[in-house]
Amino acid sequence: MSHPADTVARLRVAFRTGRTKPVDWRTGQLRRLREMLTEHGTDLAAALREDLGKSPAEAHRTEIDFTIREIDHTLDHLDAWLRPEPVPVPARLGEASAWTQYDPLGVVLVIAPWNYPAQLLLTPLLGALAAGNAVVVKPSELAPATSAVLARLLPAYLDTEAVAVVEGGVPETTALLAERFDHIFYTGNGTVGRIVMAAAARHLTPVTLELGGKSPVFVDRDADPATVAQRLAAGKFLNAGQTCVAPDYVLTDPETARALEPELVRAVEALYGPDPAASPEYGRIVNERYFDRLTALLGSGRVVTGGDGDRAAKYIAPTVLADVAPDSPVMAEEIFGPVLPIVTVAGLDEAIDFINDRDKPLALYAFTESEDTRRRLAAETSSGGLGLGLPLAHLTVSDLPFGGVGESGMGSYHGRWSIETFSHRKAVLAAK
Ligand code: NAD
Repeated sequence: MSHPADTVARLRVAFRTGRTKPVDWRTGQLRRLREMLTEHGTDLAAALREDLGKSPAEAHRTEIDFTIREIDHTLDHLDAWLRPEPVPVPARLGEASAWTQYDPLGVVLVIAPWNYPAQLLLTPLLGALAAGNAVVVKPSELAPATSAVLARLLPAYLDTEAVAVVEGGVPETTALLAERFDHIFYTGNGTVGRIVMAAAARHLTPVTLELGGKSPVFVDRDADPATVAQRLAAGKFLNAGQTCVAPDYVLTDPETARALEPELVRAVEALYGPDPAASPEYGRIVNERYFDRLTALLGSGRVVTGGDGDRAAKYIAPTVLADVAPDSPVMAEEIFGPVLPIVTVAGLDEAIDFINDRDKPLALYAFTESEDTRRRLAAETSSGGLGLGLPLAHLTVSDLPFGGVGESGMGSYHGRWSIETFSHRKAVLAAK
């Protein structure tokens, strides 16, 4: 394996020659990536099954087809997004003209996590390529099968002068972070996010940090419990709860909580049958360490459904906990697993205070029929995204920026927001 310094130097030379700048090169790379995904979708799905027990349907929906849609959206709009934008020039400058122009940044580093190990590596990669950069990608070592497939396929499809895959864990990433990049795009937890930002600061490199945290769900008393339960369960238990924007916990009044409980039991059964351990649709916990962390959270509150697991199979049942105290272990940190606590509050005011007393979440969700409640939640809380009536779906809308705020991260991507992230908007003035 070549030294990270050599890899970065090689990519920097390629960038300096200008080979990544023509729009044809960029769209060519995106088309090759698309071919890779269509020709090797089954290989990737098999690796995702091995790493996380994802069903082929889920692997396609949330990783492979998700990335293909993002590629298609970018190919459809890239010319328009890159077009220089003229701006008015003050009369005192005479007949000058002025515009903004999108310049690629140079060599970008993308560090990906294990939970959607293909999507969360490939979507930033395609954005950085579309913006005309050379890119080093570092897959997560905690999803080793997916990492190996990506390390084999990406060099076979993409321009190896401008794209490199570096596999490995902490030592390899630490070595990479010692190099100078023009942008670092990191997805993962806030502890490592701080390490990344400190390393970037040494070179004055800008960062995008896509982090996590506890994403609350407010359920109003006017919401239909069956619909809420179906949508909540589908969003929460996807990928066994290991989704950065998964609903983390429910905030609702005691009466609504009681109405939700049997509906959540029904919704889990509708998704995974009477024995989720036997369902091919239900995923597994990434490793034993995470399994142990999660089982320690199962003692909070009262079990409504689930509550059991099997360490050898890395299986934890879809679990709903009711009567959960705000100071219980399950409420102390992002759950990142298939455990849904219900915390009761008196109503909207208390829910808003509860949310604002804690770190700014990556996503806030609410189920309510009331326009006033929607308006108040939008105006009086801060979160990376706001999902009204449907968890997770906002991140599938390519025209919406996806990213966090405060402890849930900084910067955003998807669609044209990736071009904003991976470009410098250069100010140009041309005098007559
Ligand atoms: P992880 O353990 O795979 O780590 C992410 C990356 O950081 C990996 O590539 C890993 O090699 C690297 N890394 C780990 N330790 C490092 C160190 N000391 N120095 C340098 N690099 C290091 O994934 P994770 O952090 O467990 O991911 C889960 C977290 O990520 C959750 O908090 C989740 O909410 C968040 N997340 C956020 C998003 C988002 O889009 N905002 C998406 C997925 C996950």
